[in-house]
Amino acid sequence: MKQNSEQNLSEVGQAGAVTQKRPFTAILLDMDGVLFHGMEPIDGAIAFMEIIADFPHAFITNNPIRLPQAVADKLEHIGFKRPLEKFIVTAGEATASWLAQQKPGFTFFAVGAKGLRQSLSQYGNEDPENADFVVIGEGEGIDYSVITTGINLILKKGAKLISTNPDTTVDAVIQGKRRVLPGGGALVAPFAAATGQTPVTIGKPESLLYEMAMQVLGVKASDCLMIGDRPDTDIIGAQKLGIKTALVRTGRFAPGEALPQCMQKPDWDVNSLSELLRVFGW
Ligand SMILES: [Mg+2]
Repeated sequence: MKQNSEQNLSEVGQAGAVTQKRPFTAILLDMDGVLFHGMEPIDGAIAFMEIIADFPHAFITNNPIRLPQAVADKLEHIGFKRPLEKFIVTAGEATASWLAQQKPGFTFFAVGAKGLRQSLSQYGNEDPENADFVVIGEGEGIDYSVITTGINLILKKGAKLISTNPDTTVDAVIQGKRRVLPGGGALVAPFAAATGQTPVTIGKPESLLYEMAMQVLGVKASDCLMIGDRPDTDIIGAQKLGIKTALVRTGRFAPGEALPQCMQKPDWDVNSLSELLRVFGW
């Protein structure tokens, strides 16, 4: 545990319930690499969620593949208490909401797994011939023909290129093996290269997901602690808004691994959620 804020730690105290004095009143949680890898809960994550169950918290994920209902299903299936869907903010939901603000009744061409298409369809209509937006998500579905359709919409029809998230990779477990999958930030690259258009990016470290989560919790940035495994998205995005941060080394970075020099240190840098509980005296 690298202690970066002695004042914060002293305010938290050493023992007692979660209700004791603390430097935040709500928790925002990333999920991949924090609560689970693929369909496997991370050691200590279920116990952590049970201990903070009555504490205001929301889940924010750059993963646009699943709708909030499917995320809640997954959490329940792998052993977590099922959260209310309104407390799950995905990059797919945030993208759909943002596009609806830009152009009510928008049309889209979605690239990636079907969850993104479902999110966008709540506010817009799919139209591969005349889409207003070419929206890049994650998961299967990108091939030569999809890239061709997307770049022609941008170059010939004036569609705008949207990336649900900037993650270049996604950590996954497939048939019991840890695998690295391409993320939204990688899948958008051929569209950007072919058209010369810089995508508008929605997910962390941009502010929209944090803002949507804080709105549903009824809290402000200075009230919150963000727990994530990726310094480049989870931590930097929260720091920009003035949200306190805890980095857990159960995903993108392993215990002891050096962090990028260009980023500010998180307020807490711990090996696991179990260690964070000990630090907070919970
Ligand atoms: Mg993560």
